[in-house]
Formats: sequence, C-alpha cells, structure tokens
Amino acid sequence: MAGRTDNTVVIDAPMSLVWAMTNDVSSWPSLFSEYESAQILERDGDRVVFRLTMHPDEQGRRWTWISERVGDPATRTVQAQRIETGPFEYMRIRWTYRDVDGGVEMRWEQDFAMKPDAPVDDTAMTDRINTNSTVQMARIKGLVERAARAHADRRSEPMTEIRLDGKRALVTGGSRGIGRAIALTLADAGATVIACYQRDSEAAAALDRELKTRGGEAVRADVTSPDDVADLLARCGQTLGGLDLVVNNAGAMSHVPFADLEPAEWQRMIDTNLTSIYLVCRQALPMLADGSAIVNIGSGLATVGMPARTHYTASKAGVIGMTRSLCKELGGRGIRVNTISPGIVETDLLSRVPDEQRAQYARLSALGRLGRPDDIADVVLFLASDLARYVTGVDLRVDGGI
Ligand code: NDP
Repeated sequence: MAGRTDNTVVIDAPMSLVWAMTNDVSSWPSLFSEYESAQILERDGDRVVFRLTMHPDEQGRRWTWISERVGDPATRTVQAQRIETGPFEYMRIRWTYRDVDGGVEMRWEQDFAMKPDAPVDDTAMTDRINTNSTVQMARIKGLVERAARAHADRRSEPMTEIRLDGKRALVTGGSRGIGRAIALTLADAGATVIACYQRDSEAAAALDRELKTRGGEAVRADVTSPDDVADLLARCGQTLGGLDLVVNNAGAMSHVPFADLEPAEWQRMIDTNLTSIYLVCRQALPMLADGSAIVNIGSGLATVGMPARTHYTASKAGVIGMTRSLCKELGGRGIRVNTISPGIVETDLLSRVPDEQRAQYARLSALGRLGRPDDIADVVLFLASDLARYVTGVDLRVDGGI
C-alpha cells in the first residue's frame, strides 16, 4: 500500500513573490498555521535541511521531524523528503509552480507509505493531508496575496525629492516588514545602507541582493548580543567609514497574560526592543558624524497599553524615555534622536491575526485602513533628512489617527 495526494491552489501574485515567500522555510511558522517552529540545520545553495515542529496536538504531543528540500528556481520545482521519517516508511514531496490565468498555480504532490505500527494507515493519512492542505493553501494564498498588494502599493517612483545621497545608514531588522521598507526607502533616496537580520532566510538574501546593487549589504547580527552588535558596527566602520543615520527597528512582540508571563519572556522582550537600542547606539556613538540622526521604532501601544502586552509596552515605553534623554545628551553635537510610534501595520507581526480582527483594527484608525510599511519608512526618511533639522526628542505617532 502507498498513499498519494495532489493539491493545487492559484495565488494571485507574481511568481517571484510566490516562490520567495513559500520557499522561505524559516518563516513557515508565520505562513502555515500548523508549525510552531522551523529550525534551519544546514543550508547549501538551493538545498536546505531543517527541523519542523508542530503545535501541540490534542494530547499535548509536539510532532517534530527533519526534512531536506532542494529548490530549482529555473524550473520552479522543489523536491523534498523527510530524513527522519517518524511514522512514515517514506515521505516524498514535490512542489511545482506555473503561471496560469489568475496568477501562479502552486501544486503539492506527496507520495508516502505509513509504517505498519503507525497510529494511522495510508488511507487515513491521505484524508488528513488532503484536509490540511486545503486549509494551509487557503491561508498561504491569503498571506501571499496580501503581501503582493503591499508590494504593489510600494510606489515605483519616489514620491518626494528628499535625497540622502552620500549618507551612510544602519537599519536593524531589515529583512522583513517595516525594517525592509525603511532600508529600501533610504537606499532609493541615495543612502548607502547596511541592514541586519537575525536568521538566514530567503527574505534576508533578497534584501542583501537589493542593497548590494546600491553599495550596501545585509548582514546577520542578533541585536540582543553585545558581540554581534560590536561586529555589526565594526562592519559599518570598515565598509562605510562611519554613520550618519541609525534606525533601531528590530523588535519582537508576543501576547502573554501577565499571570503567565515568565521571567524569560519578559527578558526577551526587554532585550530585543530596548537593550538592543542601548547596545547599538553605544557602539555607534564613536562613528556617528556630527549632525547625524537616530530614529527608534517604538509603538503606539507604549502609551495606550493593552492586556497581555505588559512586557511589550514596558519595553516600548522605555524607548520613549531613552529617546528624550539621549537627545539632550547628544544635541550639542547636532545629533537628533527621535522615536516613531507606529499604529497597526501589515507585517508578519500581524500574520496570525484573523481577518475579522484585522478589519476591526483597520476601523480603529481615522483613515479606515491598517498602516503599510512604507507609511512608516517615509516618516523615517523625513526624520533622517535636513527637513527635520529642528526636530529632536519627539515621539511621533504614525497610526492613521487611532
Ligand atoms: P517583523 O516581525 O515583520 O520583522 C522584524 C524584523 O526584526 C525582522 O527583520 C527580524 O529579522 C528582525 N529581528 C527581530 N529580532 C531580531 C534580533 N534579535 N536581531 C536582529 N534582528 C531581529 O516586525 P515589524 O516590521 O512588524 O516590526 C518592526 C518594528 O516596528 C518592531 O520594533 C515593532 O515592535 C514595531 N512595531 C510594529 C507594529 C506592527 O503593527 N507591525 C506596530 C508598532 C510597532 P529576521 O527576519 O531575521 O527574523
């Protein structure tokens, strides 16, 4: 006996985006609803070996296994197989992509056989995979199409004449979301940009390619690690010879009721959202030119509050205080320090929010829509430019009027 499934979905988005998003294994916990984590174990060109762990099942078990995937961008095909087969005799997967009317058809074919002692047989597993593939494909279609709309909204021509030619910029957390829009907007305006990210991914590689065409690059650095931050700033010194702009954007968020908030999660939030800014600014200080700008990305929630976000809002409120003091300490050198506090912006941070709640969020804003990464990036551009020469120490809310 053997099992076989064959499922397809048509995604209304450009091939390059469908390919990049669905093959970025490290982002699968956001893309699929079933995965708790995806850990990259090995990467060699288009081959990646990774461990997937599912969310706990009804019995509290976390299924986990290792797979290998080899993608071929030329033929738009991917061959994958489980290396740790678990309850399967074997499990081979083939993904193919082709342009069709209405977008890109993504097809998943799975060939497998269950072990005799597996908890389910081939027929039951076939049903399970077919049911789950339909759910996951619908979700992925929604996420990729949403990202495509956000890309389309990204203007092809600069809307303003604000130029940053000759400026050297560091952007933390540039691989995705708001940070990516900031890095590309600054580069479009003529700045040479070094951006950092935490995990190797297709998104990080794509950013690196884009920035390299304009003299910059994307480098891996965990902004919570003093050693990584020291290396990152050393790289800025070697490559750029100094800095005129630092954008502290990297951040994390989670939703944990206060009673369940363990010290480790509290610490992770403070380290990622606040201590990282201290580490980056302190290391950057000796290489910041007089008249430079620092822009910190805070959050509108810092001053409003929200249940189950005490750790997040505390870290972001710290950013506002730090901005106020640092602007006073560095003002004598003409260095301006500002915070932008975004409202609710369409990025991976929002990817787990159901559509209905997303619509509710949109209605909270006076402008009736969620923010887009470019909405924030354009304000960074303004704060980085000479147009904002007398603006320092502000907490600028960019939230569409929540
Ligand atoms: P995303 O989750 O989409 O992207 C986060 C970025 O930060 C990624 O590039 C990620 O890198 C990077 N990053 C995370 N942790 C680290 C780390 N330790 N070291 C280096 N890089 C790291 O987030 P958003 O774009 O939505 O958010 C960006 C900022 O805006 C955050 O500070 C967030 O708090 C703030 N914000 C966002 C709002 C929203 O609605 N989206 C609202 C208010 C504020 P990698 O790809 O490697 O994981």
